[in-house]
Amino acid sequence: MERLDKSLNREKANKLVVHQVIITKPRRIARRKEKKMPKASKEERADIYRNHRVQLLLSKFMSGELSKLDPVYDPKFGYTYPIVEKIVGDAPSANEFLTKLFEVGVLKRSLFDKFVRCLHCGSANISVHYCCPYCKSFKIKKSSLIEHVPCGYIDAEERFQKQGELVCPRCHKAFTKLDVDYIKAGAWCTCSECGKSFDIPIVSHFCRDCHRDFTFEEALYKDVYSYSLSEDVMQEAALSWTLIAPIKEFLENCGFKVESPGFLKGKSGTSHMFDVTASRGRKGQNITVIDLAASTGKFVPEQTVIAMFAKVYDIAPDRAYLVAIPKMSKDGKKLAKLYKIKLIEAKDYNEAIKGLKACIKNNFTEEASRKNSHNGEQA
Ligand SMILES: [Zn+2]
Ligand SMILES: [Zn+2]
Ligand SMILES: [Zn+2]
Repeated sequence: MERLDKSLNREKANKLVVHQVIITKPRRIARRKEKKMPKASKEERADIYRNHRVQLLLSKFMSGELSKLDPVYDPKFGYTYPIVEKIVGDAPSANEFLTKLFEVGVLKRSLFDKFVRCLHCGSANISVHYCCPYCKSFKIKKSSLIEHVPCGYIDAEERFQKQGELVCPRCHKAFTKLDVDYIKAGAWCTCSECGKSFDIPIVSHFCRDCHRDFTFEEALYKDVYSYSLSEDVMQEAALSWTLIAPIKEFLENCGFKVESPGFLKGKSGTSHMFDVTASRGRKGQNITVIDLAASTGKFVPEQTVIAMFAKVYDIAPDRAYLVAIPKMSKDGKKLAKLYKIKLIEAKDYNEAIKGLKACIKNNFTEEASRKNSHNGEQA
């Protein structure tokens, strides 16, 4: 997987900046079957989303084509993920790919099955042998232990069989109904090799590919998982693709050099992270800042405006936009006005894109006409 280049140029000024914030209502934490892995930072995940293969897989989840990725049994590899193999090439790469996405918190997983692999050749085409604990032979006969309830006689099933009927060898009564006059009292095995009887056999394995035996202790016992997209990522990815991608494209068409995420160093010397940065013109000019904040609640809280202002104050851009989905809180609106942050409220992503594009275009026109009239005055 391509990794985020850690040495992202944080010094670049003169950029148009898009910052993305996601606020979700505190939700009940679902009990995870898996121990939570330390998640990657938002910057690292943003980088992961830009990986084409990741996008291909995530788009299957996002489009609803896939809600849960279950493994498919394959005798050679044990389990495979054919959908992922198509994306990344082969079974080992698919496993590595999925494990990485789980480790960075993009996918969650739950234990689907366990399977045995041959220690000699790695094959998953393995059969189970129940063996005699005395001589280790797998030539054993498995039957049931039966108790005749009225007289209490217990023996292996075949000892009761008499001309197609079950008859008690002790009291000679024919059996009528299971669980009424006779009961099955467990399994009973007899070894064809040494003749001994026992109730619990020992387990060993036989590889159908290399025809070698191996014991339970020697067996490679592997976990296999079902994968699904973590809810946070679902929203985060949706926001990055459906919102940032079109905005990015729009700005690039306007002649901006766009990066996502981008970093800007403020007057204080602190670097601020934004999801998209774009630059146009000479250094120190034409800086626009855009924050995207989506809430699953009714309002985006004013803290988003305050957090944005802290960065805006430090960077002093030419333009600052904040997109709030679905609405900004009352106080947030007041603060945005006070801080001169242009607020765009949108009920969904499409509206947000439209609103933001219109706002940016408007500003460009205003600026151009201001420039023209200024030039006119000078003439
Ligand atoms: Zn083998
Ligand atoms: Zn009996
Ligand atoms: Zn035996």
